[in-house]
Amino acid sequence: MKRLILSLVLIGCGVDESSSDYRRILYRGPICEEVDNGPFLHYVIEFRDMVEKATGVRPTDKLKSISYVTTSQDNLWGTCYTWSTKKGEIMMAKIELDPNLSNKSKVLERTVVLHELGHCIMNDDHVKDANDLMNPTVSMNITEEQANARIEHYMARLARGE
Ligand SMILES: [Zn+2]
Repeated sequence: MKRLILSLVLIGCGVDESSSDYRRILYRGPICEEVDNGPFLHYVIEFRDMVEKATGVRPTDKLKSISYVTTSQDNLWGTCYTWSTKKGEIMMAKIELDPNLSNKSKVLERTVVLHELGHCIMNDDHVKDANDLMNPTVSMNITEEQANARIEHYMARLARGE
């Protein structure tokens, strides 16, 4: 799901005091990276490392948070929300994960988070190719080999400028 707003949103560092959920603020944007050590931050760094290796350009991000949020949509493991300018530049983004993901395999968690980062950092959409990270469907029993193949497929696309 993507939402569009036309006004500029400023992102600050620090803990979101409006949230009472202790799991809530796990990651803030790149300026704040050194003061964050949320449990999902290593995925963000891994993703940016991989994109840099594939494209030669280290992507910046406007991620505000990656957090567990219970929603009524129980068929979704993760959702990326972006707030963009008219030209489509992401000004702010957040990722919400189904709390049930924490009971599943680390391979599934990694696949879901990296997929959402494809939306929230690279502004990429879904693809039909089932062997690509940006395919919207993922098996709960995905193996490490299958996950790595999906990630490599996506990175190869980025390397080709697609
Ligand atoms: Zn998606």
